[in-house]
Amino acid sequence: MIPHINLGPQGPSVSQLVYGTWRLLAEPELATASAIERRLNLCADLGMTTIDTAEVYGGYDVEERLGEAMKLSPTLKQRLQIITKLGIYVPNHRHPERTVAFYNASAERIEKSVDKSLRLLGVDALDVVLIHRPDWFCAASDTATGLERVVAAGKVKAVGVSNYTVSQFELLQSRLSMPLVTNQVELNLLQMGSLYDGTLDQCQQRGIRPMAWSPLGGGRLFDPNDAAASRIRQTCAALSDKYGGVSVSSLVHAWVLAHPSGCVPVIGTNKEDRIRDLAGAAHLKLDRQDWYALWEAAKGHRIP
Ligand code: NAP
Repeated sequence: MIPHINLGPQGPSVSQLVYGTWRLLAEPELATASAIERRLNLCADLGMTTIDTAEVYGGYDVEERLGEAMKLSPTLKQRLQIITKLGIYVPNHRHPERTVAFYNASAERIEKSVDKSLRLLGVDALDVVLIHRPDWFCAASDTATGLERVVAAGKVKAVGVSNYTVSQFELLQSRLSMPLVTNQVELNLLQMGSLYDGTLDQCQQRGIRPMAWSPLGGGRLFDPNDAAASRIRQTCAALSDKYGGVSVSSLVHAWVLAHPSGCVPVIGTNKEDRIRDLAGAAHLKLDRQDWYALWEAAKGHRIP
C-alpha cells in the first residue's frame, strides 16, 4: 500500500503518490464515467487516495467527469482526498466572451471557482485548493482574502499554490493567517529547475512538501529521439536489477521521491498496468550514487 504523509506540519494527510487528472479525458475509451470510476477505485485500492485535478483540465470538463465517476461508486468519495486548482481561464466554447487566456486569482474568482468545483465534483468540501499559477494582475492581499473566505466557510480544508516563485510564495504567505501547505511545481530528471531556484529549499525551510508535476517529463522520457531521455533510460536499465527488476518509470519516480524536501509526485498515466507498476515506486529507496548517476545521465556531464 502507498503510505500517507502530511503535506504540512499540521496536515493535510495525502498519499505519497498522487493521481493526476490533466490527461484524464485524452483517450475516449478511458474517459467514460465508468472507466474513470474503475481507475479511481484501483488507485484507492493501491493507497493512492489523493486526486489532483484543476478547473481548467480537459477544457473545463474533468472535474465534472470526476464527479460523475464518483457518483457511480457510493464509497469512493469517502476514500479519496481531492486537490483542485483554480485561476487559469482560456478561450473556450463555453466562454466565447474570452478573447485571450488569462490568470485570475482574485478573491471574487476564488469564491466563484470553489463553489463551481464543489458542485461539479459533488463533494461538501475540497481537501486542498491551489492557485494554479501566479496572477501578476492581482494583489497578494486580494488572493489571500479569497483563500481565507473559502476556508472560513468550511468549503476548503487547506490551501497552497502551484508554479509560484520563492518570492511570490513568501508574499502570499505574509498576507495569510494560515499556512500554504504546498507549492506544486514541475520536477523531473528533464526539468530540475526547482533544485536550483530555491523552491525546494523553501519547502524544507517551511516544513512543507512540494508536489512534483510531470514526473516523467510529460512522457518525454520515452521519446526515442531525445538524447537526455535515452541516457536516462539506459541508466535506469543498468540499475533495474539492483532494485528488483523495476521499471524505468518507477526508478524515475524514486529519483523525485528521494529529494529531502519529501516531494510528492503527481502521476499522469491513464493506464491501469502503469498505475499498478508505479505503486511500488513509493517504497523504492535510491542510494546516493544511483541518484547522482541519474542526475549525470540527465545532464550529460559529470557533477561540477
Ligand atoms: P507524466 O507522468 O510526466 O506524463 C504522463 C504521460 O506519460 C502520459 O501521456 C502517459 O501516457 C505517458 N507515459 C507514462 N508511462 C509511459 C510509458 N511507460 N511509455 C510511454 N509513455 C508513458 O505526468 P503528466 O501527465 O505530465 O502530469 C501529471 C499530473 O501533474 C497531471 O495529471 C496534473 O494533475 C499535474 N500537472 C500539474 C501542472 C501544474 O501546473 N500544476 C502541470 C502539469 C501537470 P499513458 O496515459 O498512455 O500512460
